[in-house]
Amino acid sequence: MEARCFFRAIPPKAGLPGREKPDLLSIFRLPGLSGYLGYDSIHLMEYISTRGSAPAIPSKKAIIKGIAEDNGLYVPSTFPSFGSAPFEGPQNKTYAERAVVILTPFLPDFTDAELNNACRAAYGKNFESPQTAPIKILGDGTAVLELWHGPTQAFKDMALQLMPRLLSFALKGEKERYEVVILVATSGDTGKAALEGFAGAEGVRIFVFYPHGGVSEIQRLQMVTQRGKNVGACAVKGNFDDAQTGVKQIFSDSAFNRKLSSHGFQLSSANSINWGRLAPQVAYYFTGYDDLVAAGRVRQGQPILICVPTGNFGNILAAYYAIRCGLPVSRLICASNRNRVLTEFIRTGVYDRRREFFKTESPSMDILISSNLERLLFELSGRKADAVVRWMKELGVQGWYKIDPRGLDELQELFYGGFADQKETLAAIRGAFEQQGYLMDTHTAVGYSVLHKYRQETGDQTPALLASTASPFKFNQAVLEALGRDTSGKDEFALLDELSTICGQPVPAKLAELKSLPERHNAVCARDEMDRALCQFLRIT
Ligand SMILES: *Cc1c(COP(=O)(O)O)cnc(C)c1O
Repeated sequence: MEARCFFRAIPPKAGLPGREKPDLLSIFRLPGLSGYLGYDSIHLMEYISTRGSAPAIPSKKAIIKGIAEDNGLYVPSTFPSFGSAPFEGPQNKTYAERAVVILTPFLPDFTDAELNNACRAAYGKNFESPQTAPIKILGDGTAVLELWHGPTQAFKDMALQLMPRLLSFALKGEKERYEVVILVATSGDTGKAALEGFAGAEGVRIFVFYPHGGVSEIQRLQMVTQRGKNVGACAVKGNFDDAQTGVKQIFSDSAFNRKLSSHGFQLSSANSINWGRLAPQVAYYFTGYDDLVAAGRVRQGQPILICVPTGNFGNILAAYYAIRCGLPVSRLICASNRNRVLTEFIRTGVYDRRREFFKTESPSMDILISSNLERLLFELSGRKADAVVRWMKELGVQGWYKIDPRGLDELQELFYGGFADQKETLAAIRGAFEQQGYLMDTHTAVGYSVLHKYRQETGDQTPALLASTASPFKFNQAVLEALGRDTSGKDEFALLDELSTICGQPVPAKLAELKSLPERHNAVCARDEMDRALCQFLRIT
């Protein structure tokens, strides 16, 4: 099959400001010049709501607010155009330096110093790989983009190491002085990544609720051993839904919020719809491509496939935005587990959440409502907010919606949707290890399996970049079972050691050290005591 190049195929539509001021925006990529020109005199990228009735705001405000007052999600008013080679100059740029290049036009109200400072701190020694997000080239035309060398061994670190630093800078510009309290309900991974990201952030405190007895022992240890003066965690007697419902109630309790505000606190969330979590993810698709070119695997400008194991649609949306900015990609492959609501959406144009929910071996992708899809719908509709409002209302009221045939054509021109069940996922782990000598986690394996299905179905042999979202050590039990090992009766640390022996790589230091760290956060509360637990953490009565 001939590779098509989607980024060329997008006609420059009226009302689509993506190519409005490419020359102007490219000025801002010249080092040092953006600060010199002064932002006020020039119209820069702002953030608009997907639901159309909230005012456009600068990126700092969008990161502080998280969600727009019309309940829409903030999207960039324009897309900068980078072409396929945004990183000029010497080939030895660090990940942090390359991230600054990509982030600058998206975050124009941050100064060069703020962006440089934030990226250097986010993508430095706290990543176990000096390349931050290295690619590993397999023998079958696939390169794996490893996004999990951060402190929590999952890809959420790529965003959550940077976003708190951006938020701190954004808060400094606010007239009113208050301390932001980030509240998180977690089923395991996000809580730790948020704690680790916000630990030590200026002007911010973070408190995480997790289900008592409802997370893995590694995940519990990761949270309760978290260091930092501004962090706290509390187990809730209940399941994840109880914790999440409790957090939502705290957010909507206006009397409680007034009380917090009288003590100088303002609640906020760090969930994956915040622009501050999405923007950092655009960068690694460009660095991954850059690394493929440097390794001689693709020619500069040659289109590739990108495959992303998907849950809330954040990671793959960032790839879509990279394509809109000029990254040469012929096909974007959206891989789901048994919760295949996105596969069906891409194949039929119908999004239907009325279905059974499955717990799988790739728990971070067990999602039936992919919040960030709303941002793609906005683009597919030609940026028509009223269509987005209608679909989101239908999703809430009747549980499903259907996009129009034109939008579906455009969706299918770029996206391929597929899914892998548990058997296929475990077979992919074993196959990649035996045939390619590469050990991957269960989430990445869903992507690998779907990528192979795509190649078989279409015959398309274009080189592929597969986003790898977690370290195999983090999901050690399922990975060992995929390799045919008996895991019964062994504790987490025995499993880590066994995996290390098999793959010949050391146990990630941050996981190994959990065995010896003191437990700092031992609070447990009932479902209706979560506000009290929060007050105790903030030391208010
Ligand atoms: C969060 C997560 C995903 C899903 O990413 P989305 O941006 O929600 O699509 C996939 N794999 C792992 C390991 C994750 O933690």
